[in-house]
Amino acid sequence: MNAVTLSGRELAADIRTGAAARAAELAAAGRPPRLAAVTATDDEASAWYVRSLGSSAAKAGIGYDVYDLGPAATAEDIEATLARLSGDPAVHGIIVQSPLPGGMRLAGLAAAIDPAKDVDGTNPVSLGRLMTGLPAFAPATAAAVISLLDRYRIAIEGRRAVVVGRSAVVGKPVAHLLLDRDATVSICHSRTRDLAAVTAQADILVAAAGHARLIGTGHVARGATVIDVGTNATSDGGMVGDVDPEVAEIAGALSPVPGGVGPVTTALLLRQVTEAAAGAA
Ligand code: NAP
Repeated sequence: MNAVTLSGRELAADIRTGAAARAAELAAAGRPPRLAAVTATDDEASAWYVRSLGSSAAKAGIGYDVYDLGPAATAEDIEATLARLSGDPAVHGIIVQSPLPGGMRLAGLAAAIDPAKDVDGTNPVSLGRLMTGLPAFAPATAAAVISLLDRYRIAIEGRRAVVVGRSAVVGKPVAHLLLDRDATVSICHSRTRDLAAVTAQADILVAAAGHARLIGTGHVARGATVIDVGTNATSDGGMVGDVDPEVAEIAGALSPVPGGVGPVTTALLLRQVTEAAAGAA
């Protein structure tokens, strides 16, 4: 194995420490930050994430409530909950957990989240503001990719970046943030012809397809930086990324799954809750 491991654990701990300090200041000023997570699924992985976010929030001194509407929830139920939480002055951050009941699109529902409380940047207004350079919360996973690159001092400007995945929550915002930092960016998706030929051009390759081990040694240029966003459940209850671990033989740097982008995402989400609380009148 040659690649430097881009662990997110220390970075996440530092971000959480900062968020905890900010949360304590806000609490002392009579504005204890509070995050609300809305779920409408009985998916086990989702339930695990919602619980683990709760324990991270508690450690950072951030209040946390789960609104579990169950898998039979309608879009109207979810929107009404989001609208109510948006109007609640004690709540500063709101997230909607995926997966959603069949056929519902996150972007449509997330339009009911007040952009000032949209700490995971899912409201189309937040995304539009982000794309046009106006202040907005970036989707935490996309921001985590950039934070990880910065932590390891991996230059972005002028580099060729390839993002595999074009979802509104991960692929597109990652591509945008890389573009904003002056990378030359390509986005791949399921209809991309000869994926390996495109990804092998990358100085920085971000895999966000949700397809276990999609990216193998044949997809990566020697010395490239590879950020693995994928989280794919295995039959034995584990988790693997979108990148085959053998890529470490070729890449210059590789983020692990678990322990790479994931913990940084959670930490940034908590930081964004404190920022939302600080910005609340
Ligand atoms: P998604 O909405 O399912 O989007 C997946 C994207 O990947 C789509 O654009 C799809 O193309 C593309 N894709 C799928 N298979 C492909 C293939 N064989 N070749 C090329 N492109 C392919 O998923 P998402 O919500 O963006 O999440 C992506 C991954 O990140 C998932 O594993 C998810 O669990 C993980 N994730 C991790 C974190 C974290 O904090 N670590 C947070 C969020 C998500 P089309 O558009 O053509 O369908």
